[in-house]
Amino acid sequence: MNREKFLEELNKLGIELTGYQMIHLNAYCEFLKEYNKHTNLTSITEDEQIFLKHFYDSLTIVKAINLNEYDNLLDVGTGAGFPGMVLKIVFPHLHVTLLDSNNKKINFLKELVMKLELRGVEFYHGRVEDFCQKNREKFDVVTGRAVTNMTALSELCLPLTKIDGYFIAMKGSNEEEIKDAEYAIKMLGGNIEEQIKFNLPIEESGRNIIKIKKIKNTPKEYPRRYDKIVKYPLKNNGK
Ligand code: SAM
Repeated sequence: MNREKFLEELNKLGIELTGYQMIHLNAYCEFLKEYNKHTNLTSITEDEQIFLKHFYDSLTIVKAINLNEYDNLLDVGTGAGFPGMVLKIVFPHLHVTLLDSNNKKINFLKELVMKLELRGVEFYHGRVEDFCQKNREKFDVVTGRAVTNMTALSELCLPLTKIDGYFIAMKGSNEEEIKDAEYAIKMLGGNIEEQIKFNLPIEESGRNIIKIKKIKNTPKEYPRRYDKIVKYPLKNNGK
């Protein structure tokens, strides 16, 4: 996706970038490519692919939520900053926390934030299960893109979402995985408000954004340890 098409597609999403924001995205793209030469951050390394599969894809979240109405956002398993860092650039009022267990990725993001002179970005290097200990039900919006399956991701993200806030999962087109997670989402205090299906422009790969409202407190025993989350997924198996 070239820059022109990027701006055109963003307009369709109702986003009009300022020149300053475009400068920031270009600098992000350059720094990502440069850093990726010595540190493995992403397999997507060409400008047009970065603009489509990382930047545009991150911004499709606006199909589900108006971020102007919220103050803070946590991006779980942010990797090289998707969607959290892109959202900070385009919605600068947001106080954004970027969390990842991979310190190389967190260091990249710290350097990028310094380069772009952004304020209101916090970092957490560590596992989301540990972060939950002191940060339960603290965030207006919690996002997760391509982190793990929907059932496990719900157990990791819903405990961190405020009552009346939203957990927004950005997934591919695996319908079954989403259906499978319905029981867990309910148990964890969430309610699926909307599921938005669409194809990415140009390459037409399928996407699903699941918008989950936090309607009840998450029981204190969740999240469990990661090995348990994986081994015993929250399923309605009649027990
Ligand atoms: N969200 C980014 C994106 O869409 O490009 C990164 C996706 S990458 C496939 C998954 C990331 O989640 C990795 O950077 C990994 O370190 C992180 N991750 C997976 N499980 C995690 C956990 N339990 N706590 C913190 N980070 C985790």
